[in-house]
Amino acid sequence: MSYKDALKEFFGPDCLFNEPMNTHTTYRAGGNAEVYVYPQTPEAWEFVLKLARSENIPLRVLGFGSNILVSGRGIGGITCSTKKMNRILVEEDTIKAQAGAPLDKVCELACKAGLAGMEKLSGIPGSVGGAVYMNAGAYGQETADCLDYFDIMDLEGRPATLLKSDLKFSYRKVEGLPPCVILSAGFKLPPGDFTQLMAARNSVQHSRVEKQPLEFPSAGSVFKRPVGDYASRLIDAAGLRGLSVGGAKVSEKHAGFIVNFNHATAEDIKTLIEQVREKVKEAFGVELELEQILWGKFEE
Ligand SMILES: Cc1cc2nc3c(=O)[nH]c(=O)nc-3n(C[C@H](O)[C@H](O)[C@H](O)COP(=O)(O)OP(=O)(O)OC[C@H]3O[C@@H](n4cnc5c(N)ncnc54)[C@H](O)[C@@H]3O)c2cc1C
Repeated sequence: MSYKDALKEFFGPDCLFNEPMNTHTTYRAGGNAEVYVYPQTPEAWEFVLKLARSENIPLRVLGFGSNILVSGRGIGGITCSTKKMNRILVEEDTIKAQAGAPLDKVCELACKAGLAGMEKLSGIPGSVGGAVYMNAGAYGQETADCLDYFDIMDLEGRPATLLKSDLKFSYRKVEGLPPCVILSAGFKLPPGDFTQLMAARNSVQHSRVEKQPLEFPSAGSVFKRPVGDYASRLIDAAGLRGLSVGGAKVSEKHAGFIVNFNHATAEDIKTLIEQVREKVKEAFGVELELEQILWGKFEE
């Protein structure tokens, strides 16, 4: 039996072929995933991970696709979505969430339960798994701040629980994480005042609407913050606001974002990323580091 037949037999309707990634990424661009599955249990993950391993098939884990640019040529192998694993459990000072739960929902439940430390992460449009993987952060808070532990499965299908202290979390970076899928995460939060937490949540949500081009598809900040500066400030100072390639442009509202304003292809976005990088390097000698993750092959 081919590996595709084996996946179809195991996953049934949760196994799709040639699935358009523009429907699974917030850029709303990119080609097809050769095989797309929704594992929902540790057994299903073990099955797909072991199969990919034994057949030597590339495997990718997708959260909400809010930090990924998929090539127009698409991606081969198996793409596993966590989207159908979205349970959240609040118990006293602990929140346990499956990888595909929306981070924003966890923030909301934390605030409502009077638990502090995640209110400023409100509005980040990723999943819990993606937030842990990227150590997503905003307004001075990071996912790792209140993270206690997380459950993973390695590429051989072996489960493990990692403590925050097992790894080194820094700005949009986790060091020491073996190649794996994050299945769930546990957050331990100190008590806070309900009214103040809700006010902080509302305030950051409001600030996002005001400052970010949420009316267009994007994947948030394209580049990491260079030490002691802001990518958006450099891009703006280089006169690149509004610079466009095809249907992609540097947002006029927030120069750190590239938006898909008119049916951009992934290649439009990638070309624009390179242009911005080159022009900022020319103007200020600063090499901007990509925060977003590229999947698939792009022309050099
Ligand atoms: C409008 C907008 C605003 C944003 N604002 C912010 C912000 O303020 N701060 C910030 O940090 N980011 C921000 N982002 C970027 C993005 O939301 C975060 O990086 C988020 O954490 C990505 O989560 P995701 O589930 O979408 O991950 P994806 O984009 O699906 O994946 C990102 C990476 O994580 C890996 N991954 C995802 N889930 C798992 C898992 N379960 N196990 C193993 N690996 C996994 C993927 O393989 C990939 O390498 C913003 C994006 C948008 C569109």
